[in-house]
Amino acid sequence: MFAPANAADLTTPPDYHRCLPIDLRSQADAFIRYLHELPNKSPVECPQCGHPYFRVDTMPNLRLPFYRCAACNKGFNCLSKTPFARYGLMHLWPVYGKYLLAGWPMPSIATALGISPSTTWRWIKPCRAVMAKEFPALYRWWSARQDRTDLEPPPHIAAQAQAFLSGLEHLLTTQQAVCSRCGSTDMKRVDERRPDFRCSGCSSTLSLLRGTVLSRLGYPEHWLGFAQGLINGESLVDLQRRTGLCGVACKRWRVRFTQMLEQQGHTELIRWITWLRSRRVKEVSDFVREGGKLEAVTGSRYSANSNRRFSVPGNRVRKTH
Ligand SMILES: [Zn+2]
Ligand SMILES: [Zn+2]
Repeated sequence: MFAPANAADLTTPPDYHRCLPIDLRSQADAFIRYLHELPNKSPVECPQCGHPYFRVDTMPNLRLPFYRCAACNKGFNCLSKTPFARYGLMHLWPVYGKYLLAGWPMPSIATALGISPSTTWRWIKPCRAVMAKEFPALYRWWSARQDRTDLEPPPHIAAQAQAFLSGLEHLLTTQQAVCSRCGSTDMKRVDERRPDFRCSGCSSTLSLLRGTVLSRLGYPEHWLGFAQGLINGESLVDLQRRTGLCGVACKRWRVRFTQMLEQQGHTELIRWITWLRSRRVKEVSDFVREGGKLEAVTGSRYSANSNRRFSVPGNRVRKTH
């Protein structure tokens, strides 16, 4: 059903350094190298009995050189008794490892490599086993994010998240603005929630949101929480629970906040969010499969039919475009 990829079909593998802490990058390189060399290694002993003498057994049409132990007479190749013993398409393992470390979702890896999604799912197990055994520090860090037991980004991405959140907070709370008409700094903030100002000198009004991607988004009191949820890789439904907005609005907000991240050059953070979000999908489906129940989300608490918490029109967020 799925044709094996030839080299020309491979898209450029991702830069797997981007989502990793700097001090783990050399381990990551070693892990990829390990996957690359694994099928080409010369065995040093019989994997069955540990005897150091064995001979090459010449059998045609084998994917790997085959050996026979001088002591126990059992046959083996360099993958025998390794986690990858029963896996094929070995030329793709190192590339797959790069996608894994870069936090790509399995279906996307399958498409990029031209292999079946079930293969990408099966390869996780041996990759985890090798990483855990040979590169334990890398494994501890990576698997905690992959399993969403720790959502803390690496320091360079945490700095981007912090810069973004504090910039947003400053925008929302600042009491200072410069009049665009007369240049006066004597401006009074006229809205508690939005950074809207009126000039004491010339009476002209100014919104710091004008011309930004946030200019027509409603409910600024939810922006910081929404941005934090986005950074944690929360799903659309999570974000709905967090804000009480409808799915359409949350989708639109996600686009806008992602645009803002792009404008500020936080490309690693965007990549990071994609990773954590794809793992959130998996986390939820596992939770539900094991009998867990998540709070249902239906529509918006701001819509006309539900209890209004704020006296704003229910369709306010719909006015944006
Ligand atoms: Zn042996
Ligand atoms: Zn003015």
